[in-house]
Parts: sequence; C-alpha cells; structure tokens
Amino acid sequence: MRGQIVKILSNLYFVNCDGIVYECHSRGVFRNKNITPVVGDYCIIDEKEKYILEILTRKNYLIRPLVANIDQGLIVTSLKVPDFSTNLLDKLLLVMEINKIKPIICITKEDLVDDYTKKEVKEIMNYYKKIGYDVFYNYELEKIKEIFKDKITVFTGQTGAGKSSLFNKLDPNLNFDTGEVSLALGRGKHTTRYVELISLFDGKLVDTPGFSNIDLSVYSKEEIKSAFVEFSNYECKYKDCMHTNEGILECAVKKAVQDGEILESRYENYLKFLNCDKTA
Ligand code: ZN
Repeated sequence: MRGQIVKILSNLYFVNCDGIVYECHSRGVFRNKNITPVVGDYCIIDEKEKYILEILTRKNYLIRPLVANIDQGLIVTSLKVPDFSTNLLDKLLLVMEINKIKPIICITKEDLVDDYTKKEVKEIMNYYKKIGYDVFYNYELEKIKEIFKDKITVFTGQTGAGKSSLFNKLDPNLNFDTGEVSLALGRGKHTTRYVELISLFDGKLVDTPGFSNIDLSVYSKEEIKSAFVEFSNYECKYKDCMHTNEGILECAVKKAVQDGEILESRYENYLKFLNCDKTA
C-alpha cells in the first residue's frame, strides 16, 4: 500500500494512506542502503505487519527542516519591519527554483508603508507576476487558502515578517508558533524536534519554517543562471552566455535590462549571487 510519512517519533513512522494513518517501523534494509526515511517521503508499506517496505524516489529534499517531496514554498515578505528586500526574495526564489519547489510570494504589513511605497512595490510585484510567480497580499485570505490543496507547502520569510500571524489568521486552530518571538529576542530554539506535516485546507503544511542560513556557494553558476527564469526568454549570441562580461550586442539579457524589460534589481541580484562585479 502506498502512503506518505507525515510524522516520525523515534523509530515509529506515521504513514498516511488515503487518510488512514498507520504506525509503522522501518526495515533494516534502508539502513544498509543508506536511506533514512524522512517526513514527506512516499513509501510502500505492509499494512498488516506495519512495516515500511520501500521508500519511493524523492522529488526534492531539504535538510533544515528535514523533509522530502515539497511541492511549493510560501515566501512571507514584509514591506516594513523588516524592510522589503528584493535581495532576500530573489535568493529564496533561486533556492526554490533549484530545488524544484514552486515559489509563492505573500506580502505582509502593507499598512505600515506610505502610498508611494505601496505603488512602487505593486509595480515590482507585477514584474514577478509577469515572469510567472503567484503573488498574494496577506489580507487575501480566501485566495491564499486555495493554494494548499493537494500540495506539501513549506514556508519561509525573515524573522518578524508575520509568518505566525498569517497562519493564525488562516486557521485560528493552528495556534502556530514559528519561533519568531524567541528568535527576535536572540534566544534561538535549540530543542531537537521532529518535523510534522499538518493537514491544512486539503493539503499539508510543514510545521516549521525552511531555508534559514542560505549558502549560495553550494550552487553552480549554471544553476544560478537557470534559476532566473525570465532570462531563458532571451536569446544571446552565445548559448553559454552568462550575461556578465559579454557585450550588449552579444547579450540579449543585458540589452533587456537596459531596455527596462528585465527588472534591474533582479539582474543586480543575479550578479551578486554569481559573485561578479557589474560591468558595463
Ligand atoms: Zn547573455
């Protein structure tokens, strides 16, 4: 029988098969193969003997939190306290693209900024929509509720961006504590805890935020390039063009930045992530 691991306690694996949760043990065979089952893993179980027989191929895998097969990531981005940062947003988009996690942007604290900033952010967000990303404001609760259906969602965002309050508004029963307060006070939580998939609006939510301490040095330049999805719409003279030191006549991406088709901050962040200097 096929199912999904939704919770792990010591050596006990809680496997959800069509809504019924079986408490299973794993077989030593995984240890021999160097496979440790994690939350999110799809598996085949022997429902009578309560054993996991096989772990199915993973779509992706995160180490912190330790979870597999994530479909999408909700990026909670505040406009004020902490200030809006395209750098962090682009960094999170990059990591998700490379890990085959569909990013969804959720803007919070719009009420804390003036009309000028609101308009400016709206224009920037229109660009992100244009290149294919879903963008929501945190007051669009009904729309946000729809994104969870049949998906495993992980969430992320700066400390204080309003992750807890967003989820508590979505479902007051969640009583979500994302550890924001203790982190803000400089007392990080060091308790070892297991990740759990929480049922939410016909989908599953990972109960702890993902993507802290992003280290871009683990990614190749090619991966970083491919994560800027809109760049592939432009055909440069050379196929392996990195859109960095090439001339504007050869590089269609640089031309598009100059023409205002590609958001300048996106291109600048791309160069920063590549660790390059901007050259004319
Ligand atoms: Zn180019």
